[in-house]
Amino acid sequence: MAESMVGLKRSHRCTEVSEANIGSEVTVMGWVQKSRNKGGIIFVDLRDRSGILQIIFEESDCGTESFQKAEKLRSEFVAAVTGIVEKRSGAANENLKTGTIEVRAKSLRILSESEVPPFPIEENSKTKEELRLKYRFLDLRRPDIQKNLMIRSRVATLTRAFLAEEGFLEIETPTLIKSTPEGARDYLVPSRVHPGSFYALPQSPQLFKQLLMCSGYDRYFQLARCYRDEDLRADRQPEFTQIDMELSFVDVDEVLEVNERLLKKLFHDICGYELQLPIQRMTWREAMERYGSDKPDLRFGMELHNVSDVVKTCEFVVFQNALANGGSVRGINAEGQGAMPRKKIDALVEFAKGFGAKGLAYLAIQPDGSFKSSFAKFMKEEELQALVAAMGGKPGDLLLFAADKDKVVFDVLGNLRLELARQLDLLKKDDFKFLWVTEFPLLEYSEEENRYVAMHHPFTMPMDEDWHLIDTNPGAVRAKAYDIVLNGVEMGGGSVRIHQSDIQSKMFEVLGFTKEKAQEQFGFLLNAFKYGVPPHAGLAYGMDRMVMLMVGADSIRDVIAFPKVKDASCLMTEAPAPVDEKQLEELGIAVCEEK
Ligand code: ASP
Repeated sequence: MAESMVGLKRSHRCTEVSEANIGSEVTVMGWVQKSRNKGGIIFVDLRDRSGILQIIFEESDCGTESFQKAEKLRSEFVAAVTGIVEKRSGAANENLKTGTIEVRAKSLRILSESEVPPFPIEENSKTKEELRLKYRFLDLRRPDIQKNLMIRSRVATLTRAFLAEEGFLEIETPTLIKSTPEGARDYLVPSRVHPGSFYALPQSPQLFKQLLMCSGYDRYFQLARCYRDEDLRADRQPEFTQIDMELSFVDVDEVLEVNERLLKKLFHDICGYELQLPIQRMTWREAMERYGSDKPDLRFGMELHNVSDVVKTCEFVVFQNALANGGSVRGINAEGQGAMPRKKIDALVEFAKGFGAKGLAYLAIQPDGSFKSSFAKFMKEEELQALVAAMGGKPGDLLLFAADKDKVVFDVLGNLRLELARQLDLLKKDDFKFLWVTEFPLLEYSEEENRYVAMHHPFTMPMDEDWHLIDTNPGAVRAKAYDIVLNGVEMGGGSVRIHQSDIQSKMFEVLGFTKEKAQEQFGFLLNAFKYGVPPHAGLAYGMDRMVMLMVGADSIRDVIAFPKVKDASCLMTEAPAPVDEKQLEELGIAVCEEK
């Protein structure tokens, strides 16, 4: 039996009721968290998005009809209660905002009944994620998820208010657009009206925001839904939200400056964190050299040391081979870990192999200064001493070395550094370490495609002082590109854009586009560039990641209302799904059997 709302009006959310209301009548509505019938008296915890309020039913207060209804209340029934606020008769519950009060019911309506839910609605649920996502509408009732989504909403509101105040205009760009081959794989949408032709869903509003600059809008932003059909990785979503912006008549500094103030505001208002400005800046090169990563986590040290020079004359073949092949030998010092058991060190070696290392050389400095090591026997005493000195090693420390091509060494040690920090519990979620990583390489060589590809995207401006190298040493050209990194997570990134058609044409040439191909793909942008284009630059944040870091969640799925899982499917709606033959016919599409 589901009763109606006729004549009823909610006066408060559950936890808006407080001691200030003692003695007065309130009407609250929500879901039954739990109900206990103690014979003659029934206690009900009523929950809405604000939290929980205790209701108490006695027949003498609420009458027989309401009391009998109260006896039927079960978890997740939806109820409306009118009653008088009282000081709690039993012991106060310190875990509840409303722990010192209760509502003595005068009347009850059951607005909706509920079947027994497949799992209890509770914070820090132990229920398997697959089941929770299948019943996401129930999972979303959990107070921790509700808090995350409320914070997400506040981030959106604060961002809009801040950017509007700074003169940004919120402008929507289309989501059925033309496919561009650069970047990740596009999601395609077939056109019925143009059989055989497809729209793409945008990977970002990049080209449109640049066109808006050409059109004189000056400062643009959008909370933009973006789509990337990337290979399956643990914490990726095929669709995600960017806080996307673009500014005209600016260079790097101005973009970073306004964004620093935005971040300061958001982290202050949401996390109560005082971000000291300016945010530290580090070039990409320095980040790689010191942390083996272009998104270093600065919450702990354990920096990389290049010891290639120190070991260049030693006889350890692993080091020698790496150096002879143009690579390097680098190490990290896990301070105080010299007594790590062999088994754990072996596990680190296996971990390193997962990142392409052939092995990992280690040197554990014993309290008496002697060594336990996988390679000490190949080195002279003075070589070992020089190595320890270069690593800042002390008795009790564990030194770990990788020797390979730079790319592999950085990847291995960068990840090993993080793994050790996880094992040593050095990563505090409420410690926020921001960093701008700047001067990214413009291009990156793709072994797969046998050509240079854009590291950021093809519209990124090269650094003026490097541009002359574009023909002779393209890999050495740096870009006016920057990422904002927080606690080892790339929270956003952007660049100054090319606004000169000659540089843009050259860029397409380096990326292997013929003139015709460039015209076919990006003709509209190149055309726009013929008619007066302001220098412009921009940036986009991954809003899901940002909120995840703010709330200290482990996964972006915890800050997205209806996330998809790793294979890009939705467990609740079962998308993607086959469609009717008729729909395919209309689109002129035939589905082939997989061979
Ligand atoms: N569109 C870029 C991206 O999605 C961000 C930017 O350059 O503004 O990574």
